[in-house]
Amino acid sequence: MQGLMMNRPLSIIDILTYAAEAHADAGIVSARTEGDIHRQSYVETLARVGQLAHALRALGIGEGDRVATLAWNGYRHFELYYAVSGIGAVCHTINPRLSAEQMIYIVNHAEDRVIFVDTTFVPILAGLRDHLPPDLRIVVMTDHDHMPDTPIEVLCYEGLIDGQPDTYDWPELDEDTAAGLCYSSGTTGNPKGALYTHRSTVLHGLTVSLVMGPALPQGTNVLPVVPLFHVNAWGLPYAGPMMGVNLVMPGPGLDGPSLFKLMESEGVYSAWGVPTVWMGLLAEIRAQGRLPEGFGDVVIGGSAPPRAMIEAFEKLGVKVNHAWGMTEMSPIGTHGIIPPKIRDLPLEKRVDYQVPQGRRVFGVEMKIVDEAGHRLPHDGKAAGELFVRGNSVICGYYNNPEASAAAIDADGWFGTGDVASIDPAGYLTIQDRAKDLIKSGGEWISSIDLENAAMSHPAIANCAAIGVAHPKWDERPVLIAVAAGEERPTLDEMHAHMAAHFAKWQLPDDLIWVEALPLTATGKVSKMTLRHDLADYTHP
Ligand code: ADP
Repeated sequence: MQGLMMNRPLSIIDILTYAAEAHADAGIVSARTEGDIHRQSYVETLARVGQLAHALRALGIGEGDRVATLAWNGYRHFELYYAVSGIGAVCHTINPRLSAEQMIYIVNHAEDRVIFVDTTFVPILAGLRDHLPPDLRIVVMTDHDHMPDTPIEVLCYEGLIDGQPDTYDWPELDEDTAAGLCYSSGTTGNPKGALYTHRSTVLHGLTVSLVMGPALPQGTNVLPVVPLFHVNAWGLPYAGPMMGVNLVMPGPGLDGPSLFKLMESEGVYSAWGVPTVWMGLLAEIRAQGRLPEGFGDVVIGGSAPPRAMIEAFEKLGVKVNHAWGMTEMSPIGTHGIIPPKIRDLPLEKRVDYQVPQGRRVFGVEMKIVDEAGHRLPHDGKAAGELFVRGNSVICGYYNNPEASAAAIDADGWFGTGDVASIDPAGYLTIQDRAKDLIKSGGEWISSIDLENAAMSHPAIANCAAIGVAHPKWDERPVLIAVAAGEERPTLDEMHAHMAAHFAKWQLPDDLIWVEALPLTATGKVSKMTLRHDLADYTHP
C-alpha cells in the first residue's frame, strides 16, 4: 500500500529560500580578494542569486551545462553554488592548486561552458587559455573597479548581474538532476569526477546538520577553511543556511596569523579544515599565548589528525570533532562528535575516542573486506579495504566507465581505497590509504600510526612516514620530519620515544629532516612527492 504523503523533490535552491525566510538575520561574511570585509544576509544573497540566475541564462547556460569555478571561499562563490544548480546546470568547482596539466584535462573533460574566476587566478587561466575550449566564457568575480589587466577576453561578475531582476522563477527539477561536479585530486592517473545530484546534496546537507549540530549552533559564526572547491566545503554551504549560522568566508588568507585575526574579529565559534591548516593556527595560538576570543569548536578531517593535535585543542578547551570522508561520498562518512558520558572523561581517556575516525553517519553503510572480497568482522582487530554504500555516495564517475567499473563492487558498494578496522561499538579506524601502507617483509606497517607516535614528540612539528624500496624487506619505513624548534632528536631517541607502540622491526630505518613537507592540492601531505623524491634512496 502506498502512503499518502506529498512527494516534493529535494532541491538545493529550497535551502537558500528557507534560510532567507527562517534565518533572515543570518548570512555571509567574506574576507574579499578586494581586501575588505563584506557582509550580506541570506535575504540579500537570495536576491543576488536570482540576478545571477538571469545572468547565466543570458549567457546561454541551460539545464545540464557545466559552469566552472576557480575561486576562494567568498559570497560570490556561494552565490554560484545556488544559482547554477537552481537553473538546472552543474556547478563544477575546480581546485586552483592543481597542476596546469590537470586543470586543462578537467575543464576539457567536463566540457565547461563558462568559468568564474577570482582575480587571483586570472593569470593562471591566461596561461592555460590556448589549451581550453575556444568558446569557453570567462567571468572575473569582482566589480568594474577591480577588473584586472589581462590579455584574455573576460567578463565582469558584477557587470553581468547588475540590473537583472532579483527574483527568479526556479524550475521544479527532478531531484536526481546533476547539481555539482568535483574531481578528486587524482593521486594516480587522471582526476575523476564525482557528479552530485540535488537529492544527494540536500540529504548530505541534512546529515551534516544532524551530526555536526553541536558545531553549528544557530546564530553563531562558522568558518569554512575547507575550500568551496574541495567537496563542497564538506557540505557547510548547505548545512550552514539550514542551521541558521553565519558563514565566515576566509578568502585567500589561510595561514595561521590571518586565520587568527579573522576568527578574533568575527567571533568565530567553530572552524572547519584539514590538519595542516590547524598546525598553522595552533602555532599562532602558541605565539599569542591565547585562543581567538569565542573559539570553541573545531572540525578536523581530510587526513588523520595527530593525537597531539587533538590533545592540544582539547587542552585549550576547544572541542574536537573528527570526521572522515571523501570526494566520492559528498564527503562525510563518519563523525567523531562524542556523547556526553565520554566528553566527561578525563582528557587522556576522552582522546582515545577522538583519535579514531568516528562512527558512521545515518545514510552511510560500511563494510570491510579481505583481499578475496569476504566480509571481515567488526571486532576492532580485523583490517581490510573499506567499502561504503549510501544516498550521497557516487555510483560511478562522470564519463569514465573504466574507473567506475573499478570502483564499484558486484553488490554495488564503492571501494574507498582505505584500509580500516571497525570496533564493536562502531568506531572506524583508518589504518592507512592502501597505497600508503608500508610493506616490510610481508607484514604491513601503518604510516598513520608511525606519524601519530612521532608527532607526540615535542621536537616534531610535522612528519610523514613512507615506505622506501629495500632489497631484502621489499619496503622499509622512513620518517621525514619538520622540526618545531632547534632540537633535532636522533633516530635512536625517536625509537626510544616510539618504542611503546611498536615492535622493533616496525620502527623507521631513517629520520630525514626537512624545512617543510610537500602538500597536495587539497592541503594534505603529498606522500607521492616524497616517494618520488626518495626513489633513489640508499639505506644507511
Ligand atoms: P583527495 O585525495 O582528492 O584529497 P579526498 O579529499 O576525497 O581526496 O580524500 C579522501 C581520503 O582522505 C580518504 O580516502 C582517506 O584516505 C583520507 N581521509 C579523509 N579524512 C580522513 C581522516 N579523518 N582520517 C584519515 N584519513 C582521512
